[in-house]
Formats: sequence, structure tokens, C-alpha cells
Amino acid sequence: MKPLFYCVVIEIVGGGLIGLSCAWELRRRSFDVVVYEMDRERTGSSSWAGAGMIAAHGETFPDDTWQQRALQSAAMYPSWVTALGGNIDFCPPTPTEDGHVDPRDLLRELDKTTKLEFRKIDHLDDLNGEQVIVCAGAWSSQLGDLPAVEPVKGYLLAWDGIARGSLSSILRDGHTYVFQRQNGRVIAGSTEQRIGFDRSTDPTWISDLQQRAQTLWPPLKGLSFDDSWLGLRPATADGFPVVQRIHSRCIAAYGHYRNGILLAPWTARWVADEVQRQLGK
Ligand SMILES: Cc1cc2nc3c(=O)[nH]c(=O)nc-3n(C[C@H](O)[C@H](O)[C@H](O)COP(=O)(O)OP(=O)(O)OC[C@H]3O[C@@H](n4cnc5c(N)ncnc54)[C@H](O)[C@@H]3O)c2cc1C
Repeated sequence: MKPLFYCVVIEIVGGGLIGLSCAWELRRRSFDVVVYEMDRERTGSSSWAGAGMIAAHGETFPDDTWQQRALQSAAMYPSWVTALGGNIDFCPPTPTEDGHVDPRDLLRELDKTTKLEFRKIDHLDDLNGEQVIVCAGAWSSQLGDLPAVEPVKGYLLAWDGIARGSLSSILRDGHTYVFQRQNGRVIAGSTEQRIGFDRSTDPTWISDLQQRAQTLWPPLKGLSFDDSWLGLRPATADGFPVVQRIHSRCIAAYGHYRNGILLAPWTARWVADEVQRQLGK
């Protein structure tokens, strides 16, 4: 008979979408999991800031293996969202078209099923779980001897009050995109700056993004945006996410750069498989 819980504690550093998805999948497999998160509001996380495109077709990936993983993850999304339950703004991807999801809805639903402890972890040596999983996004390599990752700052804009269904697909031109959530909110992105952990707002970048969005989707012309925000994407030097075993007690899952929302279900499954393999469960 499957035990209610295995008597091992899995510690996860980082309560963004990657950490919470891993926690959810591990709990589903009967592990006792605790997630440490330093930011109670999560507004500093890349996940809170993300646009939420499930863009296995529209984005580029470092190689064919990651392209295949992206396609697998996109295909996992509909059943994943159903299993999470709750009220999630979601436009499912199809085998040929990208979809989108509101990452803040995912964070809220995942929070409900997670044992979250709000505290900053200074170093991996401070943890003594049987398995430790590093999911600290752009901050991950500060935790110990781990592959380097750096923040890439990006802004998004949002317009409310536009009739639902006005825009049925994701419009793109290079790194500019515009799409509409199911609830009507129109989202436009994005920008890229490698300037460290800087969270100040620069109106020049916002105005440039607004102009690009209005050119891409002219109905935005003459409308002021209702909200703007920024986030720090976790990027490695070669663009490859770090999803690997570091040593017998530690797994890393970070560096998903522009595609962490898309890759969350695939990453969670990989991490949970790896934990089970290591522990022989
Ligand atoms: C503007 C923008 C648009 C984007 N659009 C998309 C998109 O459309 N589709 C897509 O797939 N991806 C998109 N992304 C990328 C996506 O958001 C990220 O790849 C993904 O959210 C990374 O998730 P994560 O959990 O690894 O990191 P994060 O969400 O950053 O979470 C890491 C968490 O770890 C916590 N933490 C860090 N250090 C510590 C510590 N020492 N102790 C405790 N807690 C710690 C942080 O507070 C944070 O909450 C976008 C990102 C941005 C910024």
C-alpha cells in the first residue's frame, strides 16, 4: 500500500512557479515538502511578473532537446491546470498554436497546496533535508557553488476595459508581443536589460514598449495603459536552463529565462522523477 507520506523532508528554496510546481508534484507523489520563500508578496519573483505565454512555437530554445521539452510541457498544460483546480485564466495551447495562462492565478492556486515558510536561505549548507532543490530563479547561484545565473530585467504593460475576444491570438514581431487574457486584460511585452538586480522604473523603456505595442496592434493607439510592472528573468550565459542533479542531496532547477512558465510542468515532472530515482521510492 502507498504510504500517506514518506518520512523524508524535501526542502525547496524559492516559491516562484518552478519551486511551487516541483512542490506540488512531489506532494502528489506523497513526499513531505517545505518551500522557503524570502518575499511574502512574491512581487519580486519573475513568475509574478511573467506574461504567461505558453509559447513552444513562438519562442526560441537553446537546442532541439529543449524545443522538444517545451512542446511536451505545453502538451501537459491542460491536464495540469485542471488538476490544480481553482479559477485560472487559461487559453490552452494546441499542437500548432501557443496558449497563455495568468501566472498569478497559478501562484495563488499552488500556494494553497504548499507548506510555505517565509524566510531567506543564505546558503545551501544551512539546509538538512534529505533532498534540497534550488529553485531560486535569478538568485540561485548566490546560494552556493552552483552554475551561474543572472537577472534580465523586463517590463510589461496592461490595458483593461477592452472587450473580451477582441484579440484571439498572440501577435508577435521579434521580442514585441500583444495578447488578450480570457478576462479581457490586454498584455504587451517586452524589454530586455542585463543590469543586475535593478528594480527601478525607467519611463523611456515603458514608452518605447507602448509605441511598439501600438504599432503591432493599432486598436491600442490613443489608449493609456492601466498597469505596468517589471520582473527579473533568470538567465544563464549559454541560455540553457540548469535542470540537473548537483550532488547526491541537491538538485538545481533554475535559469528558465523567457520560458519558465511554459516549462514549469515539465520541470516539476523531471525533478520529481529524479527525487524518486535517488531515494529509490
Ligand atoms: C516581463 C517578463 C515576461 C515573461 N513572460 C513569460 C512568458 O510569457 N512565458 C514564460 O514561459 N515565461 C515568461 N517569463 C519568464 C518566467 O517568468 C520565468 O522563467 C519563471 O517565472 C522563472 O520562475 P522561477 O520560479 O525559476 O523564478 P522566480 O519566479 O523568480 O522565483 C524565484 C523565487 O525564489 C525566491 N528566492 C530567491 N532567493 C531566495 C533565498 N535565498 N531564500 C528564499 N527565497 C529565495 C524569490 O523571492 C522568488 O520568489 C517572463 C518573465 C518576465 C520578467
